[in-house]
Amino acid sequence: MTLVPTMGALHDGHLALVRASVHRGETVIVSVFVNPSQFGPYEDLDRYPRQEARDVELSIDAGAVAIFAPPATEVYPEGFATTVTVDGPAREFEGAVRPTHFAGVTTIVAKLLLMVHPDRLVLGQKDAQQVAVVRRMMRDLNLDDIDLVVHPIIRDADGLAMSSRNRYLHDDERQIALALPASLAAAQHCVAEGQTDGTTVAAAARRVIDQAPGLQLDYAAVVHPDTFLPLARINGPALLCVAARIGPTRLLDNAVLIPN
Ligand code: AMP
Repeated sequence: MTLVPTMGALHDGHLALVRASVHRGETVIVSVFVNPSQFGPYEDLDRYPRQEARDVELSIDAGAVAIFAPPATEVYPEGFATTVTVDGPAREFEGAVRPTHFAGVTTIVAKLLLMVHPDRLVLGQKDAQQVAVVRRMMRDLNLDDIDLVVHPIIRDADGLAMSSRNRYLHDDERQIALALPASLAAAQHCVAEGQTDGTTVAAAARRVIDQAPGLQLDYAAVVHPDTFLPLARINGPALLCVAARIGPTRLLDNAVLIPN
């Protein structure tokens, strides 16, 4: 059985994970849980979109057999005192900008794996650092008898990676947000031209974001996909990761870099 964990507000990005698993002949359970512990004190927990009835309908239509949507009081009962924290790949980037985020993620993913006992866990490449952190945790806690399947990023026709948070964007902000995929394209172009210096490639992406009015860059970096350490030289697997804010809305994107 396959588990696709989500925070609900399902879109075609989430549903692609479900559909691909169903297509492989797997029995799919979608979990829907807006996990309070992965939100920081000034983040969007209260305004995070919630549409549980629609999420059930969308998941079943996509071929899931069941939705697991436990109440927060069941997941974190009175007296709950355990946290799963990962160092290494959780340290920089999202881990630095959102210091409590990954502990919330790894605690809920460990709990979901132990509650649901799936054979397979499906995550999206959209949250590349989350994939690296969860992979590390599964190895470290001997949860790696569960297969980790990573699904490619699903994008809207304009190139913006699908995200539940895109619905916060007004039309003009959405246009500005297209600088994220454009920054990835700039970095990929740079690599295709033969550039292998990680800092130079990251700078090419950063320039595109810096030129977009109203978009504040959190980071643009070339990293190793497993360790999430910055790469000085691109001579093997590499990821370009970007995070930027438009007003209160934070957006993430990433792309694989393949040297010539
Ligand atoms: P979320 O509900 O945002 O926590 O996402 C649940 C899962 O869906 C995570 O594994 C995400 O990486 C994945 N996901 C979200 N958006 C996308 C997307 N555009 N493409 C691929 N996977 C996605």
